[in-house]
Amino acid sequence: MDYKQYITVVEDWPKEGIQFKDITTLMDNGTAYKSAVDEIVAYAKQQNVDIIVGPEARGFIVGCPVSYALEIGFAPVRKEGKLPREVIKVDYGLEYGKDVLTIHKDAIQPGQRVLITDDLLATGGTIEATIKLVEELGGIVVGCAFLIELTYLNGREKLKDYDVLTLMTY
Ligand code: AMP
Repeated sequence: MDYKQYITVVEDWPKEGIQFKDITTLMDNGTAYKSAVDEIVAYAKQQNVDIIVGPEARGFIVGCPVSYALEIGFAPVRKEGKLPREVIKVDYGLEYGKDVLTIHKDAIQPGQRVLITDDLLATGGTIEATIKLVEELGGIVVGCAFLIELTYLNGREKLKDYDVLTLMTY
């Protein structure tokens, strides 16, 4: 399927110079959303995945339906202060300053095969931080799946030791 026809590119949002890739118009179309999820389900099966991990909030939109389809777990990665129990944390660089991502300490068992999902691979910073959390808990990252890849930001370089699936590139 040509998924790009369902993505709305919003110029200069959230700030000037950014071409925001809005996936809500893909989600609005049940056939396109299901088809995209089905491709990631097939990939997850091929990679023999035990559990899915996704960063808030759009990592949930991509990962949770895959988790449902395969009847496997989903572990959320969230900003600091959002998860109610004991967490581990990682700092990661943003364009301006730093942010913190967290995951529950008991979310992943050592040796579990993990698929990481998000809507879009840009610089790769968010996924790199998510990988650190998974690996600190003893999980094995067997794949990273995205709807969109912005190839000009070269996020794949940060993920060169990992298997990556993207459904469309800009
Ligand atoms: P990064 O850590 O640089 O790979 O950024 C990834 C996160 O930022 C993704 O979860 C996206 O949701 C968001 N993001 C970055 N750039 C864009 C863009 N041009 N359009 C939509 N979302 C973006």
